[in-house]
Amino acid sequence: MSNLSNLTIKKASELLEKKEISSVELTKYYLDRIKKFDDQIGSYLFVCEEYALKKAAEADARIASGKRLGILDGISCAVKDVIITKDIETTAASKILEGFNPPFNATVVKKIEDAGAIILGKLNCDEFAMGSSTENSAYKVCRNPWDVTRVPGGSSGGSAASLAADLCIFNFGTETGGSIRQPASLCNVTGLKPSYGRVSRFGSIAYGSSLDQIGPVGKSAEDLAIILEVIAGKDSLDSTTVNQELRIMNKELDLENIKIGVPKEYFGEGLDSDVEKVIREAIDKYKEMGAEIVEISLPHTDYATSTYYLLAMAEASSNLARYDGIKYGKSSMEKAKNLIEVYFKTRGDYLGDEQKRKSILGTFELSAGYYDAYYRKAMKARTLIKKDFDEALEKVDCIMCPVSPFPAFKIGEKKDDPLSMYLADIYTISANLAGICALSLPAGFVEKDGVKLPVGLQIMGQRFCEDHILSIADAYEKEMPWKDMWPSGWDLQDLCEL
Ligand code: GLN
Repeated sequence: MSNLSNLTIKKASELLEKKEISSVELTKYYLDRIKKFDDQIGSYLFVCEEYALKKAAEADARIASGKRLGILDGISCAVKDVIITKDIETTAASKILEGFNPPFNATVVKKIEDAGAIILGKLNCDEFAMGSSTENSAYKVCRNPWDVTRVPGGSSGGSAASLAADLCIFNFGTETGGSIRQPASLCNVTGLKPSYGRVSRFGSIAYGSSLDQIGPVGKSAEDLAIILEVIAGKDSLDSTTVNQELRIMNKELDLENIKIGVPKEYFGEGLDSDVEKVIREAIDKYKEMGAEIVEISLPHTDYATSTYYLLAMAEASSNLARYDGIKYGKSSMEKAKNLIEVYFKTRGDYLGDEQKRKSILGTFELSAGYYDAYYRKAMKARTLIKKDFDEALEKVDCIMCPVSPFPAFKIGEKKDDPLSMYLADIYTISANLAGICALSLPAGFVEKDGVKLPVGLQIMGQRFCEDHILSIADAYEKEMPWKDMWPSGWDLQDLCEL
């Protein structure tokens, strides 16, 4: 059998097409790796072995009869556990949904299954996607394959960690404020937050509905473009989706015609100097490849964190209200004397600390007397932040900056300091507030305590210009070795020598 290490969608598809491997063999390869390594990483919450092998056998039958459905047919993937999968347990990494087997599929799941992709299981994340380290998972810790004493980032930590340890070929994460890009950056994989409205959120368990997006996480920009083509588009089941043409990524992009904006506010206090060096070097590389680099300003950056958290918490409090011990999930009804107690006891017993914090703060800011001072003000600030991006992206083709102010931090280091965790989202949350598209791609490494840790470069683009930022990322990925570097300890080999 061919060497199956580090396969991209494109490579795996070629092997399936040429019949050098079967989909069952490919599926078994990942299932075996998950069994062998995931105890140490914790990236999967559930593995659906029987289901995956059955689907893979169906893919093989299609391939044998010359009816392969397309590039995703027979390809092994996984899904963050906040995305609904029919008859496969979906918990949003929360105890309140333990044992929930959804009766339907999220639209993105339906679309990739219709394209023949094989779902291996559900990926660990922060409970209800609330967090930046996956330490808020109610089930288990998820570790960074580059250093298992560190977090993989979050909330889509399982998505990034499973790819870094090569436990699937691609997967879905979700974003409300950086949850795809930040873990991708911390684990040396590529992740895209599509523009608001590009991909259906039907079946994505809601956190902040005006911010949430589902997006692909993979091993190259090219792979992300392949997945986006399958999942993008208007969906009658999600009224926020927009019928907007998706242009195909340009694999021959000439960087001579590209103007890159570098926001001065994203290189200030709080940015680790080693991370800054990696980001500046990546931007210099773009210059060397012919792009024009200009300094820009996003003047309302200072307001982004408070604006984001006010809005995200308000929306979270409303979205979490449905877990009341009556309509959905677990209930502590048997302990309660009246209806109010059903609510209190159920939510007290089954929601995590961060989810309680967001519910309480969100409810407070939406209450009479505080709404104008907090929620309405945050809505106004959001408009100004969006305007910053609209104006900047009129002058430049894309914006480049760091994803995270520092590389992966130690498990437990920030767990008891939610504010410092919130502040670390500073470079990612504005793209969600503005509704634009943004991605993270591998850009190099820093050394901390003798350990090599990855750093991602962020590229942001105008709403519905995913093709543009993916093409710009692809041009860099082709020149640089970073995405082909793998952590040691998981039987993987670097494809490129430094
Ligand atoms: N860390 C951010 C939060 O907790 C973002 C999470 C996300 O994008 N889902 O709100």
